[in-house]
Amino acid sequence: MRKTTPGSGMRSVDFGRPRLLLPLLIVALLASGLTGCLPVGTGTPSPTISAIATSTAAPTVEGPTLEPTATMPPTQQPTPSPEPVLPVDSLTVQFLDVGQADSILIQVGSHAMLIDAGNNNDSVGVVGYLKSQGVKTLDYVVGTHPHEDHIGGLDAVISAFGIGRILLPNATNNTATYEDVLDAIAAKGAKITVPKVGAAYDLGSAHFVVLSPASASYPDLNEYSIVIRMTYGRFAFLFCGDAQALDEQEMLASGATLTADVLKVGHHGSDTSSTPAFLQAVSPEYAVISVGAGNTYGHPTAGTLANLAAVGAEVHRTDLDGTIVVKSDGSSLQFSFKDTSIDGSGGTTVANPTTKPAVTSAPVDATTTVYRTATGMKYHLDGCQYLSKSRIALSLSDAKTMGLAPCSVCKPPQ
Ligand SMILES: [Zn+2]
Ligand SMILES: [Zn+2]
Repeated sequence: MRKTTPGSGMRSVDFGRPRLLLPLLIVALLASGLTGCLPVGTGTPSPTISAIATSTAAPTVEGPTLEPTATMPPTQQPTPSPEPVLPVDSLTVQFLDVGQADSILIQVGSHAMLIDAGNNNDSVGVVGYLKSQGVKTLDYVVGTHPHEDHIGGLDAVISAFGIGRILLPNATNNTATYEDVLDAIAAKGAKITVPKVGAAYDLGSAHFVVLSPASASYPDLNEYSIVIRMTYGRFAFLFCGDAQALDEQEMLASGATLTADVLKVGHHGSDTSSTPAFLQAVSPEYAVISVGAGNTYGHPTAGTLANLAAVGAEVHRTDLDGTIVVKSDGSSLQFSFKDTSIDGSGGTTVANPTTKPAVTSAPVDATTTVYRTATGMKYHLDGCQYLSKSRIALSLSDAKTMGLAPCSVCKPPQ
C-alpha cells in the first residue's frame, strides 16, 4: 500500500505522532566529569549506568525534553492529516561515505543536524565536508551510541561548529574516544541531553521524534542507539544507528509509528538488526547502508539484504555509491551520489577511481526497452547502477503491466 505510484514519486505516509505505550523509564543523568568512564561491557549489564551523578562539574546534563519547541507553527500541531502543509524550505540528507562508520548530515533551510561523525580518523574529513556544505552551526548533534565508528569525529565537530543541542544516550564507554567527546562538550560549555522515547524536536520545518532506546540498561552498547524518525512534508526517514533486534522489538511493542520512506539500516547491515517484523513495520521504499568496502565484519550480510529485498526496498550503500544524497521539497524525493570518500583520508576528499555512467531520460514510448532485475520492483534505463548483472530487458508497457515502478535514480520514462 505504500509503494510509489508511477509518475507521482509520492507515497502515502502516516504522519501520526508516535503513541507512547511504554512507560517512560528512568533516565539517569550522566555523571559529569566522567573522565573515569563507567565501563559498559558488551555482554555484561552495567548497573552503574543508571546511577545519578551528583557532581556539578561540567559537562552538565540536561534532562529529557519532551515539549515541542516553540518554532512549531500552530498549523502543524499534531493533528493527524494525510495532506500535511508542504514546507517552504528544502531538505537535504547526506549519508557521508566514511567507510565502516556512520555520519549523516541533515540540512533544512539554514538549519543543520549531524547524526554521528565517523571514526576518529575521519575527524578532519567530516569537519571539512560540513564546512564545504555551508554548515556554520549545528542545531543538533547526535551521538547515537559511544562506539568509535559513530562518535570518533564528534569531538572535532563539537569544537569546530556552533552547537545547539547535543543528544547522547545514557551510556558511557571507557575509551579515550568517549573521553574526548566529553572533554569537547565541557570545553564548549555545552550540555548533554539524554532524550527519552517520545522526545520531539524541530529542525526547520522538519520534525523528529526519538523512538529508542526505551530501556534504562542493555547488555550491548549498540542497543543504546538513539533511533530517530524524522518527517518532512510527505516523507519520513528512520535513522537507526546501530540499533539491534532487541530495540526493534521494543519499538514494535511501543506502538509508535515506524513507517519510513528512507531507512538508515541498523548496524551497517549486520544480521543483529533488520528483523523481518521490523522491516515490515517500517516498509521502507529506500534503504541506506553505511558500510566500508571490504570490511572484515561481512557487513552487510546476505540475510539483511534478503530481508530488505523481501519488503521491496531499494538499497543504496556507501561502499558502492559513495556519499548518498537525498533531497526533498516535501512532495518528492531525489537520490544522487557523490564519488567522494572521507574515509580516514585525513581531510582530503578523494575521488573514487570509478565514475558511474551518467544516465539520462529517454522519450516516453510504450515500446521503449527498459530493464529489470530478477527480483527488484523497479524498472531501469540501460546503464543504471542499480541494474545487476542479471538484467532483463522488457518493454515499458510490460514493465507497467508487471506493476514495476520507475527507478528514482535513472528516471526511466513513465
Ligand atoms: Zn557502528
Ligand atoms: Zn556500535
